[in-house]
Amino acid sequence: KLHNTIQELKGNIRVFCRVRPVLPSELTSSPSGSELAAISFPDTKEHREISIVSSAESATGMGRKENWEFAFDKVFEPQATQAEVFEEISQLAQSCIDGYNVCIFAYGQTGSGKSFTMEGGPTEATAGMIPRAVEQVFSVAAALKSKGWEYKMEGQFLEIYNETINDLLGKGEFDKKKHEIKHDKGSTRVTDVVTVPLESPSEVRSLLMLAHSRRTVASTLMNERSSRSHSVFTLRISGTNGVTRETCEGTLNLVDLAGSERLNSSGAAADKDRLKETQNINKSLSALADVIGALGEKSERNEKHIPYRNSKLTYLLQNSLSGHSKTLMVLNLSPLAAHLGESLCSLRFATKVN
Ligand code: ADP
Repeated sequence: KLHNTIQELKGNIRVFCRVRPVLPSELTSSPSGSELAAISFPDTKEHREISIVSSAESATGMGRKENWEFAFDKVFEPQATQAEVFEEISQLAQSCIDGYNVCIFAYGQTGSGKSFTMEGGPTEATAGMIPRAVEQVFSVAAALKSKGWEYKMEGQFLEIYNETINDLLGKGEFDKKKHEIKHDKGSTRVTDVVTVPLESPSEVRSLLMLAHSRRTVASTLMNERSSRSHSVFTLRISGTNGVTRETCEGTLNLVDLAGSERLNSSGAAADKDRLKETQNINKSLSALADVIGALGEKSERNEKHIPYRNSKLTYLLQNSLSGHSKTLMVLNLSPLAAHLGESLCSLRFATKVN
């Protein structure tokens, strides 16, 4: 019950934290780099807190131990399965059938488990939130048939790279077509992008594979592109009830954000293109934090002043980040001590939106 109260206070924004396990490759390849950060999960019953102790010498602390604590709506420890994570998300995913616009984001440094969380692996057990959410939506839609509801679903998969929208399902090469975002009476359209009508969850799976392969091809041309861009999968649902004549429209957006890691400022690594990429990533991630933060303290008065236009990402998702919408941010963390600095940055970002 306490959980509900907190959710109501914060409106429709929730923040989860997921710490990934140590990977087998990290255990064998570099024993020194695979030291664990002292992340602990004190609140074992509610699973809502993490605490971190740094024993390393900090810049200011001269070897002093430092301590941090963070609270979330839910914390997932490294051993949490995809099914367990989805259990906490399924209600939210499902509410797009009830006419809500839903956004689920994965935030974290590259390698922290964002893609694993959102797309997941090839097996049923490792399938991520996108295929699970889609499956759920289809099965709920099927169940509502007996009450007279007929649903149409369509999918779209976009990438935002350097403040430019690319169509991951489009034919031909990236960067050739200019895609513009149009808002009209509460609905959003992106010009010239492929929208695929969907009849079954398996169609979505092949669509994800297509998008994935296109991103992989692009990434061999452009260094680790997929970790430097946001990917936005959108499922649009429109329902009509043949008996009651009601209609209903909802949208489910599943967003794998660009890696949040800070640029290596030592110079050599920072070439001009990389710098521009990083500036664009920083700009859009902080725009997202600003929008979600503003929504969290939403009142009638400041609704008009939510700064959607500060990035392509927030502008694209404007209709799903306002009014009749629900938002979840999954903060992905690496368990390694070597990544502690980035983990703390991610945690501070989360407190901005929480
Ligand atoms: P990101 O998308 O944030 O760059 P990935 O999702 O690619 O990170 O994860 C990095 C690596 O860790 C991948 O090999 C992925 O399979 C693995 N991984 C991430 N999270 C988990 C998890 N919960 N369980 C098992 N392996 C994971």
